[in-house]
Amino acid sequence: MNHETSRDLYDRALSVLPGGVNSSVRATQPYPAFIERGDGGHVIDADGNRYIDYVMGYGPLLLGHDLPESVRAAIQSSMSDGPMYGAPTEIEVELAEFVARHVPSVEMLRFVNSGTEATVSAVRLARGYTGREKIVVMQGGYHGAQESTLVAGDAENARSSSPGVPQTFAEHTIPVPFNDSEAIEEVFETHGEEIAAVLTEPLLGNTAGVPPVEGYHEQLRELCDESGALLIFDEVMTGFRVGGLQCAQGKLGVTPDLTTFAKIIGGGFPAGAVGGPAEILESFTPAGNVFQSGTFSGHPVAMAAGLETLRYAAENDVYDHVNRLGEQLRTGIADIVSDRAPGYTILGTDSMFKLVFTRAGTSDIDEACIPGYRQTPDSDCFDHCPKTGADVESAETDRWDRLFRPAMKEEGIFLTANQLESQFVSDAHTDEDVEQTLEAYKEFFE
Ligand code: PLP
Repeated sequence: MNHETSRDLYDRALSVLPGGVNSSVRATQPYPAFIERGDGGHVIDADGNRYIDYVMGYGPLLLGHDLPESVRAAIQSSMSDGPMYGAPTEIEVELAEFVARHVPSVEMLRFVNSGTEATVSAVRLARGYTGREKIVVMQGGYHGAQESTLVAGDAENARSSSPGVPQTFAEHTIPVPFNDSEAIEEVFETHGEEIAAVLTEPLLGNTAGVPPVEGYHEQLRELCDESGALLIFDEVMTGFRVGGLQCAQGKLGVTPDLTTFAKIIGGGFPAGAVGGPAEILESFTPAGNVFQSGTFSGHPVAMAAGLETLRYAAENDVYDHVNRLGEQLRTGIADIVSDRAPGYTILGTDSMFKLVFTRAGTSDIDEACIPGYRQTPDSDCFDHCPKTGADVESAETDRWDRLFRPAMKEEGIFLTANQLESQFVSDAHTDEDVEQTLEAYKEFFE
């Protein structure tokens, strides 16, 4: 493949954009593919190379790059009426009504513009509502570029994970290992009265999709109820992808107090939201006194894109299609690596998939495991599935960065930049795309 134009564009970008990009994960080495356009389940770069796209905008594009006519018409009609007004519109009420009808825990929503803004607002709301300051997060979880969650370490030694984040934020954040029942019990024994919220992804989508073990979210629910803390599910990635329109909370059967959304809720445009019961949501200004505001919040074009995307998914067999292809990819890749790279693990559920280059606990592996929510501690795959963020972080990231991802790109398969970011199937992907993808995985491992 010829990549000259991308290389030249990257050279120009390095002079005017720090690191040549506007979001750090995009800076793949030696230079990223600059994308010119999308086409169904594919993207075409500035040199005319075509790729099967499993990045899908890092999750928002449930329907792929060619929006169905109804979605495109709604976006165009909203744009032609004028971009935005700084006043309420009917479309934001309609989207809120749609989400409240489908997502078990949601009665009301406050729309914002991104996943980061949603988690910032949810944390502030939880602190304001409970009058407490500490939040518990999972090691290996990701909640966007926000001060309260850019925190590393453990319960005894939390520290900010980026220069520029004051250590005082880390003092109010307690990181615990995901799926560790004892660790969370201990944290609540010590700090129960001070905890405003437990903030967790339903599965660790930013560390390849480490699944929850049975009973873990139920335990979080109970501990929060006993102590008066709020349980926040960060469904920015899983929302309207895992568990269909009910989201991961519907699939899990656990009801959080608050839910954060972004990605699919904006149908490919910048939007996010915090949802929950009126009793809590009405603490936001102007109904209550927890300050929250935004010039672009509830942007009509993003609301139209989100609403029509979700309506289209509700009226067509989108989730059956993407989940079927997701399953084909997971089982197909599991078959390939079980012979050729035993011990590597395929993670993901519904339309998310990721091959993790980890050999942790591999000696007794006969088959690569395909975990899902039904996984239990006694199931066959449990002993060799990563259970915490740390298990996955031990993966061979160098092999992914230097060999695998570039080789797949040359084969026309566009994967997320690093070893730990999940990948996404869209409604526009086809059986042929999956076959071609599995062929490329096979060739690499041979
Ligand atoms: N929360 C989760 C679970 C995410 O996956 C992400 C982004 O990938 C965010 C929050 C941040 O969202 P955004 O990038 O829209 O700010």
